[in-house]
Amino acid sequence: MTTLLSVENVSKTFAFRSGWFGPMRTLDALADVSLSVAAGETLAIVGESGCGKTTLGRSIVQAQPVSAGKVTYRPPGRDPVELTALDKRAMKQWRRDIRMIFQDPMSSLNPMMRVFDIVAEPLRIHNVASRRDLEERVVGVLEKVGIPADAMGRYPHAFSGGQRQRIGIARALVLDPKLVIADEAVSALDVSIQAQVLNLLEDLKEDFGLTYIFISHDLGVVNYIADRVVVMYLGHVVESAPTEALFERPRHPYTEVLLDALPVADPTRRGRRTKEVRGEIPYLGHRPAGCPFHTRCRFAEARCRTEKPALRKVAQADVACHFAETLHLRGAYAEAPAA
Ligand code: SF4
Repeated sequence: MTTLLSVENVSKTFAFRSGWFGPMRTLDALADVSLSVAAGETLAIVGESGCGKTTLGRSIVQAQPVSAGKVTYRPPGRDPVELTALDKRAMKQWRRDIRMIFQDPMSSLNPMMRVFDIVAEPLRIHNVASRRDLEERVVGVLEKVGIPADAMGRYPHAFSGGQRQRIGIARALVLDPKLVIADEAVSALDVSIQAQVLNLLEDLKEDFGLTYIFISHDLGVVNYIADRVVVMYLGHVVESAPTEALFERPRHPYTEVLLDALPVADPTRRGRRTKEVRGEIPYLGHRPAGCPFHTRCRFAEARCRTEKPALRKVAQADVACHFAETLHLRGAYAEAPAA
């Protein structure tokens, strides 16, 4: 498969003042993150709040500058372009190819604008459609997401949460992008509406020839939609694998813990929950030395406290754990232990 986007050794550090007159401190939101996305795939990025997944999405579209590393976009049939080397003006044209869908459609849609203008705005900003074309494209994309043309004159508050997310998706797709970054795109929706929006995203992927980066904390959703999963912890990539392989046979203890937290419908399988993660996620400003997961890992040894594991190939996965080959971790579909 052709690589559409690559992220190489990207780090992002935020500086902030502690208290009104306190000293400046730093917080490493991303630490040496590398990954690639193939054209046509859906890559999910998962992890708890604060793991850096949203910062990574924003760094890819250059909504914030990275502190180190590079992001390269490889548009089909054209030369690769290093997005991290572009200034704001040069980046603008690539924002047509790479679009974002946000979690809360109510706050991402301007409540003072009619739906037609909300969806038409990116076409106007990028000046890519004549007046007649513009109307045709807006009506066309709204139809694709299931919003009827006679609703275009209404304001966002007149729509349900699911419909507002459909409008957000139409706004992202009206420029005919290649890559869409969906940041917790269904998290604010009811479960039944989530399924509808996920199915819509699948259909649109086919129709528009899209590639998705799907940022989520919900592994059930990820299992449904993703081809491949990247697991992040404290700003690090700790595991990356094809979805089926990751759910069947996780290779990193943190992935096992995430899978273990998935809701289980069958009450006879309740006994399988045996791996409560220890303690709280550490504060990003006090990142542990060695393996970032060692303060919570049930397998941690002395080496883990001093030596940071590199990401390396183990079977179908890339894993950052010193003992990935020898740990026997249980996947999401494991049976309950015998009574
Ligand atoms: Fe756990 Fe050590 Fe592996 Fe880190 S390197 S995940 S602490 S066993």
